[in-house]
Amino acid sequence: MGLKIAMHTPLVELDGDEMTRVIWQQIKEILLLPFVDLKTEYYDLRLKNRDQTADQITIEAAQAVKKYGVGVKCATITPNAQRVEEYKLRGMYKSPNGTIRAILDGTVFRKPILVKNIRPLVKAWKKPITIARHAYGDVYKDVELRVSKPGKVELVYTAEDGRVERKDVHQFSGAGIVLGMHNLDKSIASFARACFTYALDQKQDLWFSAKDTISKTYDHTFKDLFQEIYEQEFREKFQAAGIKYFYTLIDDAVARIMRSEGGMVWACKNYDGDVMSDMVASAFGSLAMMASVLVSPAGQYLFEAAHGTVQRHYYKYLQGEETSTNSMATIFAWSGSLGKRGEIDNLPQLVSFARALERAAIQTVEEGYVTKDLAAIAEGSVQEVVNTTRFLEEVRRRLEKNLGA
Ligand code: NAP
Ligand code: MG
Repeated sequence: MGLKIAMHTPLVELDGDEMTRVIWQQIKEILLLPFVDLKTEYYDLRLKNRDQTADQITIEAAQAVKKYGVGVKCATITPNAQRVEEYKLRGMYKSPNGTIRAILDGTVFRKPILVKNIRPLVKAWKKPITIARHAYGDVYKDVELRVSKPGKVELVYTAEDGRVERKDVHQFSGAGIVLGMHNLDKSIASFARACFTYALDQKQDLWFSAKDTISKTYDHTFKDLFQEIYEQEFREKFQAAGIKYFYTLIDDAVARIMRSEGGMVWACKNYDGDVMSDMVASAFGSLAMMASVLVSPAGQYLFEAAHGTVQRHYYKYLQGEETSTNSMATIFAWSGSLGKRGEIDNLPQLVSFARALERAAIQTVEEGYVTKDLAAIAEGSVQEVVNTTRFLEEVRRRLEKNLGA
Protein backbone atom coordinates (compact mmCIF):
# COMPACT_ATOMS: atom_id res chain seq x y z
CA MET A 1 0.00 0.00 0.00
CA GLY A 2 1.19 3.50 -0.84
CA LEU A 3 1.25 6.57 1.33
CA LYS A 4 -1.72 7.32 3.47
CA ILE A 5 -4.11 10.05 2.34
CA ALA A 6 -3.28 13.34 4.02
CA MET A 7 -5.69 15.72 5.70
CA HIS A 8 -5.29 19.47 6.38
CA THR A 9 -7.95 20.64 8.79
CA PRO A 10 -8.98 18.39 11.66
CA LEU A 11 -12.34 16.69 11.51
CA VAL A 12 -14.22 17.13 14.77
CA GLU A 13 -14.82 13.66 16.18
CA LEU A 14 -17.56 13.15 18.75
CA ASP A 15 -17.36 9.69 20.28
CA GLY A 16 -20.40 8.19 21.99
CA ASP A 17 -21.90 5.27 23.86
CA GLU A 18 -22.59 1.55 23.95
CA MET A 19 -22.64 -0.59 20.79
CA THR A 20 -22.11 2.34 18.48
CA ARG A 21 -18.97 3.24 20.46
CA VAL A 22 -17.67 -0.29 19.85
CA ILE A 23 -18.44 0.02 16.14
CA TRP A 24 -16.87 3.48 16.05
CA GLN A 25 -13.51 2.13 17.14
CA GLN A 26 -13.70 -0.79 14.71
CA ILE A 27 -14.56 1.45 11.76
CA LYS A 28 -11.51 3.54 12.52
CA GLU A 29 -9.21 0.54 12.87
CA ILE A 30 -10.50 -1.53 9.97
CA LEU A 31 -11.67 1.04 7.43
CA LEU A 32 -10.00 4.38 8.07
CA LEU A 33 -6.60 4.30 9.76
CA PRO A 34 -4.99 1.92 7.23
CA PHE A 35 -5.76 4.36 4.41
CA VAL A 36 -6.06 7.87 5.82
CA ASP A 37 -3.67 9.85 7.95
CA LEU A 38 -6.66 10.65 10.08
CA LYS A 39 -6.55 14.07 11.66
CA THR A 40 -9.33 14.58 14.18
CA GLU A 41 -10.03 16.77 17.14
CA TYR A 42 -11.47 14.24 19.56
CA TYR A 43 -14.32 14.88 22.01
CA ASP A 44 -15.45 12.02 24.16
CA LEU A 45 -19.19 12.36 24.64
CA ARG A 46 -19.67 9.05 26.44
CA LEU A 47 -22.16 9.50 29.23
CA LYS A 48 -19.58 9.11 32.01
CA ASN A 49 -17.51 11.92 30.54
CA ARG A 50 -20.49 14.19 30.06
CA ASP A 51 -21.22 13.59 33.73
CA GLN A 52 -17.65 14.31 34.81
CA THR A 53 -17.57 17.57 32.86
CA ALA A 54 -21.11 18.60 33.82
CA ASP A 55 -21.87 18.36 30.08
CA GLN A 56 -19.24 20.98 29.22
CA ILE A 57 -17.69 18.50 26.75
CA THR A 58 -20.85 18.57 24.62
CA ILE A 59 -20.76 22.36 24.42
CA GLU A 60 -17.05 22.37 23.54
CA ALA A 61 -17.61 19.78 20.83
CA ALA A 62 -20.39 21.86 19.27
CA GLN A 63 -18.17 24.93 19.34
CA ALA A 64 -15.42 22.98 17.61
CA VAL A 65 -17.84 22.00 14.83
CA LYS A 66 -18.70 25.67 14.51
CA LYS A 67 -15.01 26.53 14.28
CA TYR A 68 -13.84 23.84 11.84
CA GLY A 69 -17.08 23.40 9.88
CA VAL A 70 -17.26 19.59 9.77
CA GLY A 71 -17.82 16.96 12.43
CA VAL A 72 -18.80 13.33 12.81
CA LYS A 73 -20.82 12.06 15.75
CA CYS A 74 -21.37 8.64 17.27
CA ALA A 75 -24.77 7.89 18.81
CA THR A 76 -25.03 8.91 22.45
CA ILE A 77 -27.30 8.03 25.33
CA THR A 78 -29.91 10.61 26.22
CA PRO A 79 -30.25 9.95 29.93
CA ASN A 80 -33.60 9.13 31.47
CA ALA A 81 -34.32 8.13 35.07
CA GLN A 82 -33.14 4.57 34.44
CA ARG A 83 -29.82 5.77 32.98
CA VAL A 84 -29.26 8.15 35.90
CA GLU A 85 -29.45 5.07 38.13
CA GLU A 86 -27.43 2.83 35.79
CA TYR A 87 -24.54 5.30 35.42
CA LYS A 88 -24.93 6.94 38.85
CA LEU A 89 -25.21 10.34 37.19
CA ARG A 90 -25.09 13.65 38.97
CA GLY A 91 -27.81 15.05 36.73
CA MET A 92 -30.26 14.18 33.98
CA TYR A 93 -28.35 15.82 31.15
CA LYS A 94 -30.16 17.05 28.09
CA SER A 95 -29.96 15.21 24.80
CA PRO A 96 -26.50 15.95 23.32
CA ASN A 97 -28.11 16.24 19.91
CA GLY A 98 -30.47 18.89 21.25
CA THR A 99 -27.61 20.83 22.86
CA ILE A 100 -25.48 20.69 19.71
CA ARG A 101 -28.38 21.59 17.47
CA ALA A 102 -29.15 24.64 19.59
CA ILE A 103 -25.53 25.86 19.47
CA LEU A 104 -25.24 25.38 15.71
CA ASP A 105 -28.82 26.57 15.11
CA GLY A 106 -28.98 23.58 12.80
CA THR A 107 -31.51 21.44 10.97
CA VAL A 108 -31.34 17.66 10.77
CA PHE A 109 -31.55 16.00 7.35
CA ARG A 110 -32.26 12.27 7.29
CA LYS A 111 -31.47 10.33 4.16
CA PRO A 112 -31.82 6.60 3.45
CA ILE A 113 -28.87 4.60 2.11
CA LEU A 114 -30.20 2.74 -0.93
CA VAL A 115 -29.06 -0.73 -1.96
CA LYS A 116 -30.42 -2.80 -4.85
CA ASN A 117 -31.49 -5.77 -2.76
CA ILE A 118 -33.63 -3.81 -0.34
CA ARG A 119 -36.44 -2.30 -2.29
CA PRO A 120 -38.53 0.51 -0.83
CA LEU A 121 -42.08 -0.50 0.06
CA VAL A 122 -43.25 2.31 -2.19
CA LYS A 123 -42.61 0.89 -5.64
CA ALA A 124 -42.15 4.22 -7.41
CA TRP A 125 -39.22 5.28 -5.20
CA LYS A 126 -35.88 4.92 -6.97
CA LYS A 127 -33.83 7.63 -5.27
CA PRO A 128 -33.48 8.64 -1.65
CA ILE A 129 -35.95 11.08 -0.14
CA THR A 130 -34.32 13.35 2.40
CA ILE A 131 -36.51 14.74 5.16
CA ALA A 132 -35.67 17.99 6.91
CA ARG A 133 -37.62 18.59 10.08
CA HIS A 134 -37.95 21.99 11.67
CA ALA A 135 -36.87 21.43 15.25
CA TYR A 136 -38.43 24.34 17.09
CA GLY A 137 -41.86 25.21 18.41
CA ASP A 138 -45.41 24.45 17.30
CA VAL A 139 -47.04 21.65 19.25
CA TYR A 140 -43.69 20.72 20.88
CA LYS A 141 -43.70 23.98 22.83
CA ASP A 142 -47.43 24.41 23.25
CA VAL A 143 -49.57 25.40 26.21
CA GLU A 144 -52.70 23.34 26.68
CA LEU A 145 -55.81 23.83 28.70
CA ARG A 146 -58.68 21.57 29.61
CA VAL A 147 -61.94 23.49 29.81
CA SER A 148 -64.60 21.79 31.90
CA LYS A 149 -67.48 24.28 31.97
CA PRO A 150 -69.02 26.88 29.65
CA GLY A 151 -66.92 30.01 29.18
CA LYS A 152 -64.87 32.04 26.74
CA VAL A 153 -61.26 31.40 25.73
CA GLU A 154 -59.27 34.30 24.29
CA LEU A 155 -55.84 34.82 22.84
CA VAL A 156 -54.22 37.87 24.47
CA TYR A 157 -51.00 39.55 23.37
CA THR A 158 -49.57 42.25 25.62
CA ALA A 159 -46.85 44.21 23.87
CA GLU A 160 -43.92 45.58 25.84
CA ASP A 161 -45.42 49.07 25.60
CA GLY A 162 -48.62 47.80 27.19
CA ARG A 163 -50.68 47.72 24.02
CA VAL A 164 -53.05 44.73 24.02
CA GLU A 165 -54.44 42.63 21.19
CA ARG A 166 -57.19 40.07 21.77
CA LYS A 167 -58.90 37.44 19.71
CA ASP A 168 -61.67 35.05 20.66
CA VAL A 169 -60.61 31.46 20.38
CA HIS A 170 -63.93 29.90 21.27
CA GLN A 171 -67.07 30.41 23.29
CA PHE A 172 -67.42 27.07 25.07
CA SER A 173 -70.89 25.83 25.94
CA GLY A 174 -69.47 22.72 27.60
CA ALA A 175 -66.25 20.87 28.24
CA GLY A 176 -63.43 21.00 25.69
CA ILE A 177 -59.76 21.56 25.04
CA VAL A 178 -57.56 24.47 23.98
CA LEU A 179 -54.00 24.70 22.70
CA GLY A 180 -51.74 27.72 22.27
CA MET A 181 -48.58 27.44 20.25
CA HIS A 182 -45.96 29.68 18.72
CA ASN A 183 -42.98 29.92 16.45
CA LEU A 184 -40.31 32.54 15.75
CA ASP A 185 -39.41 34.26 12.50
CA LYS A 186 -35.76 33.83 13.43
CA SER A 187 -36.08 30.07 13.84
CA ILE A 188 -38.14 29.63 10.67
CA ALA A 189 -35.60 31.69 8.72
CA SER A 190 -32.68 29.60 10.02
CA PHE A 191 -34.55 26.45 9.10
CA ALA A 192 -35.22 27.80 5.60
CA ARG A 193 -31.57 28.78 5.10
CA ALA A 194 -30.34 25.38 6.27
CA CYS A 195 -32.74 23.70 3.82
CA PHE A 196 -31.72 25.85 0.86
CA THR A 197 -28.04 25.38 1.74
CA TYR A 198 -28.38 21.60 1.96
CA ALA A 199 -30.42 21.28 -1.25
CA LEU A 200 -27.73 23.26 -3.09
CA ASP A 201 -25.03 21.08 -1.59
CA GLN A 202 -26.86 17.94 -2.74
CA LYS A 203 -27.99 19.47 -6.04
CA GLN A 204 -31.52 18.29 -5.36
CA ASP A 205 -34.88 20.05 -5.56
CA LEU A 206 -36.24 21.40 -2.30
CA TRP A 207 -39.90 20.91 -1.42
CA PHE A 208 -41.55 22.69 1.45
CA SER A 209 -45.05 21.93 2.62
CA ALA A 210 -47.44 23.48 5.12
CA LYS A 211 -51.17 24.22 5.38
CA ASP A 212 -51.40 27.91 4.53
CA THR A 213 -54.89 27.66 3.04
CA ILE A 214 -56.28 26.79 6.47
CA SER A 215 -53.72 28.46 8.71
CA LYS A 216 -53.72 31.84 7.01
CA THR A 217 -51.34 33.60 9.38
CA TYR A 218 -49.35 30.86 11.12
CA ASP A 219 -48.49 28.49 8.29
CA HIS A 220 -48.63 31.33 5.81
CA THR A 221 -45.74 32.98 7.64
CA PHE A 222 -43.63 29.86 7.07
CA LYS A 223 -44.50 29.92 3.39
CA ASP A 224 -43.74 33.64 3.06
CA LEU A 225 -40.41 33.47 4.88
CA PHE A 226 -39.25 30.55 2.74
CA GLN A 227 -40.26 32.41 -0.42
CA GLU A 228 -38.61 35.66 0.68
CA ILE A 229 -35.31 34.00 1.57
CA TYR A 230 -35.40 32.01 -1.63
CA GLU A 231 -35.89 35.13 -3.78
CA GLN A 232 -33.31 37.21 -1.95
CA GLU A 233 -30.55 34.69 -1.32
CA PHE A 234 -30.96 31.50 -3.28
CA ARG A 235 -32.92 31.86 -6.53
CA GLU A 236 -29.86 32.56 -8.66
CA LYS A 237 -27.81 29.81 -7.04
CA PHE A 238 -30.63 27.32 -7.55
CA GLN A 239 -30.94 28.28 -11.20
CA ALA A 240 -27.21 27.95 -11.71
CA ALA A 241 -27.32 24.48 -10.12
CA GLY A 242 -30.34 23.48 -12.22
CA ILE A 243 -32.54 22.73 -9.20
CA LYS A 244 -35.93 24.00 -8.08
CA TYR A 245 -37.63 25.24 -4.95
CA PHE A 246 -41.22 24.14 -4.75
CA TYR A 247 -43.91 24.95 -2.18
CA THR A 248 -47.08 22.92 -1.92
CA LEU A 249 -49.77 22.04 0.62
CA ILE A 250 -48.82 19.20 2.96
CA ASP A 251 -51.59 16.87 1.71
CA ASP A 252 -50.61 17.53 -1.90
CA ALA A 253 -46.96 16.92 -0.99
CA VAL A 254 -47.81 13.54 0.52
CA ALA A 255 -49.72 12.50 -2.60
CA ARG A 256 -46.93 13.69 -4.90
CA ILE A 257 -44.16 12.07 -2.85
CA MET A 258 -45.92 8.69 -3.10
CA ARG A 259 -46.03 8.93 -6.88
CA SER A 260 -42.53 10.40 -7.27
CA GLU A 261 -39.31 8.52 -7.87
CA GLY A 262 -37.67 10.35 -4.96
CA GLY A 263 -34.46 12.34 -5.17
CA MET A 264 -35.66 15.49 -3.40
CA VAL A 265 -35.21 17.20 -0.07
CA TRP A 266 -38.55 17.59 1.69
CA ALA A 267 -38.68 20.29 4.35
CA CYS A 268 -41.40 19.77 6.93
CA LYS A 269 -42.75 21.68 9.88
CA ASN A 270 -41.94 20.18 13.25
CA TYR A 271 -44.89 17.81 13.64
CA ASP A 272 -45.10 16.90 9.95
CA GLY A 273 -41.39 16.09 10.00
CA ASP A 274 -41.77 13.88 13.06
CA VAL A 275 -44.47 11.84 11.34
CA MET A 276 -43.11 11.85 7.80
CA SER A 277 -39.55 10.96 8.73
CA ASP A 278 -40.67 7.79 10.45
CA MET A 279 -42.92 6.93 7.52
CA VAL A 280 -40.19 7.53 4.95
CA ALA A 281 -37.56 5.67 7.02
CA SER A 282 -39.67 2.57 7.45
CA ALA A 283 -40.79 2.57 3.82
CA PHE A 284 -37.12 2.59 2.83
CA GLY A 285 -36.48 -0.47 4.95
CA SER A 286 -34.49 -0.02 8.12
CA LEU A 287 -33.47 2.54 10.71
CA ALA A 288 -29.96 1.10 10.48
CA MET A 289 -29.82 2.35 6.88
CA MET A 290 -30.67 5.99 7.66
CA ALA A 291 -27.89 8.53 7.49
CA SER A 292 -28.33 11.86 9.16
CA VAL A 293 -26.62 15.23 8.97
CA LEU A 294 -27.06 18.40 10.97
CA VAL A 295 -26.60 21.47 8.79
CA SER A 296 -26.37 25.01 10.16
CA PRO A 297 -27.60 28.03 8.19
CA ALA A 298 -23.95 29.09 7.98
CA GLY A 299 -23.06 25.80 6.27
CA GLN A 300 -21.45 23.77 9.07
CA TYR A 301 -22.01 20.01 8.91
CA LEU A 302 -22.25 17.34 11.58
CA PHE A 303 -22.71 13.79 10.25
CA GLU A 304 -24.18 10.89 12.23
CA ALA A 305 -26.36 7.80 12.04
CA ALA A 306 -30.09 8.25 12.62
CA HIS A 307 -30.31 5.29 15.01
CA GLY A 308 -29.38 5.18 18.70
CA THR A 309 -26.66 3.38 20.62
CA VAL A 310 -28.24 -0.07 20.02
CA GLN A 311 -28.31 -0.81 23.73
CA ARG A 312 -29.74 -4.33 23.43
CA HIS A 313 -26.82 -5.46 21.25
CA TYR A 314 -24.34 -3.83 23.62
CA TYR A 315 -25.55 -5.84 26.60
CA LYS A 316 -25.09 -9.00 24.53
CA TYR A 317 -21.61 -7.81 23.56
CA LEU A 318 -20.78 -7.24 27.24
CA GLN A 319 -21.86 -10.82 27.97
CA GLY A 320 -19.40 -12.00 25.33
CA GLU A 321 -22.19 -13.02 22.97
CA GLU A 322 -21.89 -12.53 19.23
CA THR A 323 -23.57 -9.44 17.80
CA SER A 324 -24.72 -8.62 14.29
CA THR A 325 -25.07 -4.86 14.41
CA ASN A 326 -25.40 -2.96 11.16
CA SER A 327 -22.70 -0.30 10.83
CA MET A 328 -23.83 1.17 7.48
CA ALA A 329 -25.19 4.43 8.84
CA THR A 330 -22.11 4.99 11.00
CA ILE A 331 -19.80 4.23 8.07
CA PHE A 332 -21.74 6.77 6.02
CA ALA A 333 -21.38 9.32 8.81
CA TRP A 334 -17.59 8.92 8.51
CA SER A 335 -17.57 8.92 4.71
CA GLY A 336 -19.91 11.91 4.59
CA SER A 337 -17.73 13.92 6.94
CA LEU A 338 -14.42 12.96 5.31
CA GLY A 339 -15.87 13.72 1.88
CA LYS A 340 -17.11 17.11 3.04
CA ARG A 341 -13.75 17.88 4.69
CA GLY A 342 -12.03 16.91 1.46
CA GLU A 343 -14.33 19.14 -0.61
CA ILE A 344 -13.78 22.16 1.61
CA ASP A 345 -10.01 21.66 1.85
CA ASN A 346 -9.71 20.78 -1.82
CA LEU A 347 -8.34 17.28 -1.21
CA PRO A 348 -9.62 15.18 -4.13
CA GLN A 349 -7.93 12.04 -2.77
CA LEU A 350 -9.88 12.29 0.46
CA VAL A 351 -13.11 12.81 -1.48
CA SER A 352 -12.41 9.75 -3.66
CA PHE A 353 -11.62 7.71 -0.59
CA ALA A 354 -14.96 8.66 0.96
CA ARG A 355 -16.86 7.67 -2.18
CA ALA A 356 -14.88 4.41 -2.48
CA LEU A 357 -15.77 3.57 1.10
CA GLU A 358 -19.46 4.15 0.42
CA ARG A 359 -19.33 2.01 -2.71
CA ALA A 360 -17.59 -0.77 -0.82
CA ALA A 361 -20.22 -0.73 1.93
CA ILE A 362 -23.06 -0.83 -0.59
CA GLN A 363 -21.35 -3.61 -2.58
CA THR A 364 -20.99 -5.67 0.57
CA VAL A 365 -24.72 -5.58 1.21
CA GLU A 366 -25.62 -6.02 -2.46
CA GLU A 367 -23.34 -9.05 -2.71
CA GLY A 368 -25.30 -10.65 0.11
CA TYR A 369 -23.05 -10.14 3.13
CA VAL A 370 -25.56 -8.66 5.52
CA THR A 371 -26.19 -8.20 9.21
CA LYS A 372 -29.18 -9.85 10.83
CA ASP A 373 -31.50 -6.84 10.53
CA LEU A 374 -31.08 -6.80 6.75
CA ALA A 375 -31.16 -10.58 6.29
CA ALA A 376 -34.84 -10.40 7.18
CA ILE A 377 -35.71 -7.84 4.49
CA ALA A 378 -33.11 -8.35 1.72
CA GLU A 379 -34.31 -9.80 -1.57
CA GLY A 380 -32.33 -12.34 -3.55
CA SER A 381 -29.74 -14.62 -2.10
CA VAL A 382 -28.03 -13.85 1.16
CA GLN A 383 -24.47 -15.25 1.05
CA GLU A 384 -23.90 -14.96 4.72
CA VAL A 385 -25.44 -13.38 7.77
CA VAL A 386 -22.33 -11.77 9.21
CA ASN A 387 -21.45 -10.56 12.68
CA THR A 388 -20.52 -6.97 13.49
CA THR A 389 -16.79 -7.34 12.83
CA ARG A 390 -17.05 -9.65 9.83
CA PHE A 391 -19.25 -7.11 8.08
CA LEU A 392 -16.54 -4.47 8.43
CA GLU A 393 -13.89 -6.91 7.19
CA GLU A 394 -16.00 -7.65 4.11
CA VAL A 395 -16.27 -3.91 3.47
CA ARG A 396 -12.51 -3.62 3.90
CA ARG A 397 -11.84 -6.25 1.20
CA ARG A 398 -13.98 -4.37 -1.28
CA LEU A 399 -12.55 -1.01 -0.26
CA GLU A 400 -9.02 -2.24 -0.97
CA LYS A 401 -10.17 -3.37 -4.40
CA ASN A 402 -11.91 -0.05 -5.09
CA LEU A 403 -8.78 1.84 -4.12
CA GLY A 404 -6.60 -0.42 -6.22
CA ALA A 405 -4.49 -1.09 -3.15
P1 NAP B 1 -31.71 2.24 18.92
O1 NAP B 1 -30.39 2.30 19.51
O2 NAP B 1 -31.90 2.94 17.63
O3 NAP B 1 -32.13 0.70 18.77
C1 NAP B 1 -33.45 0.25 18.73
C2 NAP B 1 -33.49 -1.11 18.05
O4 NAP B 1 -33.43 -0.92 16.64
C3 NAP B 1 -32.34 -2.01 18.39
O5 NAP B 1 -32.56 -2.72 19.57
C4 NAP B 1 -32.25 -2.89 17.16
O6 NAP B 1 -33.29 -3.86 17.12
C5 NAP B 1 -32.58 -1.89 16.05
N1 NAP B 1 -31.38 -1.21 15.54
C6 NAP B 1 -31.08 0.12 15.63
N2 NAP B 1 -29.93 0.39 15.04
C7 NAP B 1 -29.44 -0.79 14.59
C8 NAP B 1 -28.25 -1.18 13.91
N3 NAP B 1 -27.32 -0.28 13.58
N4 NAP B 1 -28.09 -2.49 13.59
C9 NAP B 1 -29.01 -3.40 13.92
N5 NAP B 1 -30.15 -3.09 14.57
C10 NAP B 1 -30.37 -1.81 14.90
O7 NAP B 1 -32.80 2.87 19.92
P2 NAP B 1 -33.03 2.66 21.48
O8 NAP B 1 -32.64 1.28 21.89
O9 NAP B 1 -34.39 3.16 21.69
O10 NAP B 1 -32.03 3.67 22.16
C11 NAP B 1 -30.80 3.32 22.75
C12 NAP B 1 -30.12 4.60 23.19
O11 NAP B 1 -29.81 5.41 22.08
C13 NAP B 1 -30.95 5.44 24.13
O12 NAP B 1 -30.20 5.72 25.29
C14 NAP B 1 -31.23 6.71 23.36
O13 NAP B 1 -31.21 7.83 24.17
C15 NAP B 1 -30.11 6.75 22.36
N6 NAP B 1 -30.41 7.43 21.08
C16 NAP B 1 -29.43 8.23 20.58
C17 NAP B 1 -29.59 8.83 19.36
C18 NAP B 1 -28.49 9.70 18.83
O14 NAP B 1 -27.47 9.84 19.47
N7 NAP B 1 -28.63 10.27 17.67
C19 NAP B 1 -30.75 8.60 18.61
C20 NAP B 1 -31.72 7.76 19.13
C21 NAP B 1 -31.54 7.17 20.36
P3 NAP B 1 -33.11 -5.36 17.68
O15 NAP B 1 -32.79 -5.20 19.14
O16 NAP B 1 -34.47 -5.95 17.44
O17 NAP B 1 -32.03 -6.04 16.92
MG1 MG C 1 -40.83 10.52 16.07
